[in-house]
Amino acid sequence: MTPYFTDRFGNAASRHHAFGWAARDAVEAARRQVARLIGADPREICFTSGATESNNLALKGAAAAAAGRPPHMVTVATEHRAVLDPCRRLAEGGARVTEVEPGPDGLVSPDVIARALTADTVLVSVMLANNEIGVLQPIPEIAALTRSRGILLHSDAAQAAGRVPVDVEALGVDLLSLTAHKLYGPKGVGALYVRRRRPRLPLAPLIDGGGHERGLRSGTLNVPGIVGFGAAAEICKAELEPEAARIGALRDRLLAALRGRLDGVTVNGSLEQRLPHNLNVSFDGVEGESLLVGLDDVAVSSGAACSSASPSLDPSHVLRAIGIPDEIARASLRFGLGRWTTAEEIDYAADKVGSLVTRLRQLSPARAS
Ligand SMILES: *Cc1c(COP(=O)(O)O)cnc(C)c1O
Repeated sequence: MTPYFTDRFGNAASRHHAFGWAARDAVEAARRQVARLIGADPREICFTSGATESNNLALKGAAAAAAGRPPHMVTVATEHRAVLDPCRRLAEGGARVTEVEPGPDGLVSPDVIARALTADTVLVSVMLANNEIGVLQPIPEIAALTRSRGILLHSDAAQAAGRVPVDVEALGVDLLSLTAHKLYGPKGVGALYVRRRRPRLPLAPLIDGGGHERGLRSGTLNVPGIVGFGAAAEICKAELEPEAARIGALRDRLLAALRGRLDGVTVNGSLEQRLPHNLNVSFDGVEGESLLVGLDDVAVSSGAACSSASPSLDPSHVLRAIGIPDEIARASLRFGLGRWTTAEEIDYAADKVGSLVTRLRQLSPARAS
């Protein structure tokens, strides 16, 4: 990325000199790297500022392009706020939105989606992997439904890309959101995959201007960010299978270590249909707040990091939607493992959490045993 901040500072939209061409070539190389990560054609990649913008473009863009009656959209109660909030905004503007409920394992049943579809449904949005509980939704089955009815399928893949294989053809999606920093790239850059179809997929831009990104997203491109996104995508693609196996084994070691030290440990969401690097567990009989306060050198969280702009003590909407009582939801931790996580760190975290939970349970009068 570094040269594109300094020596190679050309504007990728400058067509008449070598400085612009160098920037454009770097952007196009990154577009190919990102496309390859998800099995897309480079022409199907629209660079954005991240998954929040990509989700907004997919949802609001599809609603705006829908001609005629107020559009109907279907999504799931456990989606990221970057999907739920644009849907709520659309509903204020007259769209109809159905939020379906997942099962207790966090998975949404294609039958539930099928029952929500109406003659006016223009788009279904179901995330590939949940950001709190890591569960992987049955996207190909949902795609079979939407395809047969000419409805667009969007999937927020911010958590899944680079961690599990993501192939837009195998998934059958029309729109897919990515963000670079969830796959070791820089913050503030992402992409929306937009399937090439004839006639062109109906999507109105959110940002009008110079007509960049095939008119879908105007504005001078963030060349260094895009270059970093491309490099990160290439590394993830090259290392994906062995990394997923290694990290999945560490995650299983963490769960086994916690269960070896404590009883009353419940995994939230399906453990089978799940990202390899995610573990979300609840501890019976502890106070949620004291759990986080006692863990200063282990970077865990309860719920999503994304609500941090407006912190609240409300339990996670995801845990609530899968039927977990509020007091148990508050006593949950989300562990995220990554490329640099070691077995020593897993053992340290398990020890630390184990002794903290034991201590809190001894203090808690609520715990009878
Ligand atoms: C992180 C995340 C987002 C938001 O990504 P930004 O880079 O903050 O725009 C959206 N959806 C999911 C599932 C995420 O995990």
